[in-house]
Formats: sequence, structure tokens, C-alpha cells
Amino acid sequence: MRVGRTRLKNNKKFRRRRIILGVSAIIIVATGIYFTKTLLNKNHKKSNVQVLSKKEDNKKETKNINEKKKYLKEEEVKQKEIKKPNPEDIVKGANVTIEGDKYTYDAKKIEGDLKSGKAHVDGKKIAFLTFDDGPSTTVTPKILNTLKENNIKATFFIVGNSLEGSDRAKEILKETVKEGHAIANHTYSHNYKHLYPGRFVNANNFMNEIKQNERIMKSVLDEDFHTRVIRFPGGHMSWKGTEAVDKIMNDNNYAYVDWNALSGDAEGKRRTPEQLAARVKREVTENYKPDRLVVLMHDTYGKENTAKSLQEIINHLKSLGYEFKTLK
Ligand SMILES: [Zn+2]
Repeated sequence: MRVGRTRLKNNKKFRRRRIILGVSAIIIVATGIYFTKTLLNKNHKKSNVQVLSKKEDNKKETKNINEKKKYLKEEEVKQKEIKKPNPEDIVKGANVTIEGDKYTYDAKKIEGDLKSGKAHVDGKKIAFLTFDDGPSTTVTPKILNTLKENNIKATFFIVGNSLEGSDRAKEILKETVKEGHAIANHTYSHNYKHLYPGRFVNANNFMNEIKQNERIMKSVLDEDFHTRVIRFPGGHMSWKGTEAVDKIMNDNNYAYVDWNALSGDAEGKRRTPEQLAARVKREVTENYKPDRLVVLMHDTYGKENTAKSLQEIINHLKSLGYEFKTLK
């Protein structure tokens, strides 16, 4: 019996222990499940929030991009309206306005024609009226008037120091361009001793003056302005040792243009308008009425008679069948 009772006792103990163990296991598992669930839920909520806010961000971004695009398009239209090509605007990187460009001719070709000494090219007669050493406040406006009355465009070879210190001279340069004429570079100082010491071209001094003159003209006209057309003071033909400067000019796409007719308005004795016109007529005939005629005149101070001779010169050239163009 004792043995039976003890076994019974042990069995009871055993069963109780199993129950305790079972309950504990259930509690542990339940707690585990609960915590896992809570954690998953939290994460799920979190990622949901993240997805939502990402979606919001994308929406906002798309809206922003669309608004930006719309704004840029509107700006573009505005800019186009503002920048409607004005015929009086300078052609970027050139020496004429958009309107003036209709009357231009390739200066490099003229350089070649004059150098070859032929200037008989194709039977088509083209005259280039050129005015050096200006602008002046006294003569240039008169020449501009005559050109306007005849609806003829010409080329003006500017000396930079004639612009400095004169607001009126600067205004005249602007008017010259506005009226469709071409602008060329005749150095800053026109000083033979500095440009051609001992009658030899100093390439360094020469090119520095070309650049200095261009800087002044840009500041007066427009940063878009550039002229590749050059005339050597006194003429390229007059100086020695031109090889170095010729190479620089060729490498940099400059064109120098001398002349094959002149009025003699820069020669010692002061001539009457009739004498000046007669000289041009004679020179054109002596040159057998070249297909490409470059006439040298001056619009600097004291050249009033040049202005007075211009109408007669134009009439004569027209009668010979010349049309008028500018050098670009
Ligand atoms: Zn000159």
C-alpha cells in the first residue's frame, strides 16, 4: 500500500508539473506571437506611411517639374518677343547691322583682287566707297547725309583715338552703323612712327593697335561687334617687312583692303570738290573701269570738300554702271 500511495503521489506530482510546463509553454508562445504581431503591424504601418509620403513627394515633384516647364516656356516666348531681330542690330561677330548685311561683299575676295592687280573678275561692276580716319563731328554727318539721299552704303575705316573724349563722335559712329554702313579698322593712333618704325611694319605694335581700336569700337557699339576688315594707314603697299603681320592677319581671318582709285583729298594741296571728283573719274578710266573699284576718301576734320564732291562721284560711278557695296 505504501508503495501504491507513493506512486500515486508521484503521478500527481508529475501531472502537476506537466500542467505547469504546458501552461508556461502556452504563455511563452502566446507572448511570442503577440509581440511578433505587434512588431509586424508597426512595421507595416511604418512602411505604409513611407509609401504614402513617397507618393506625395513624387506628386509634388511632378507638379514642380510641370510648373517649371511651363515657366520656362513662357520665358522663352517672352525672350523671343523681346529679341525679335531688329534690322538695326549688329550681326554677331560682324561689322554691320542685319539690314546693312544686305549690301556687304567678302573683303577677303577684294583683298585678293587688289593684290593680283587685276580687279577684272566677272564683268559685274561693284564700287566700294571707303572713308578713312574718322569719324569727325564736322564732315562725317555730311557724308552720311549724301549717302542716305542716294540710298548707298559705304565702308568707314575708323581711327580709335578720334572716338576718345568725344561723345558726339561716338554717337556718329553709332548712327553710321544704324544706317547700314560697314565699319572697318584703321588702327588706334594712325601714327606711322609707332606702326612702321624705319618704314618697316612692327607687327606687334600694329596688331596691338588693331585690338585696342576694336575694344573701343565694341564699347561704343556692341559687344557683338567685330570687324575683320583692316586698312593700313598709308596703305599696305607703302611699307616694308609686312610678312610677319600678313601671316598674323591671314591666320586670324583678317582682310586688309587698299584701294585702286582715290580723290586725292589727303594729298598736300587742298583741292576743290570739282578737282576731287575729276581725280576719281580719271583714276577709274586709267584703271580701265575695273569690275571691283575701291575708292579712297577721307571723312576726318578739314575734309569738307570731300563731302561736297561725293554727289558728283556717285553720279559718275552710277553712269558707268557700278552698284555700291560694303566690305565685310
Ligand atoms: Zn588713314
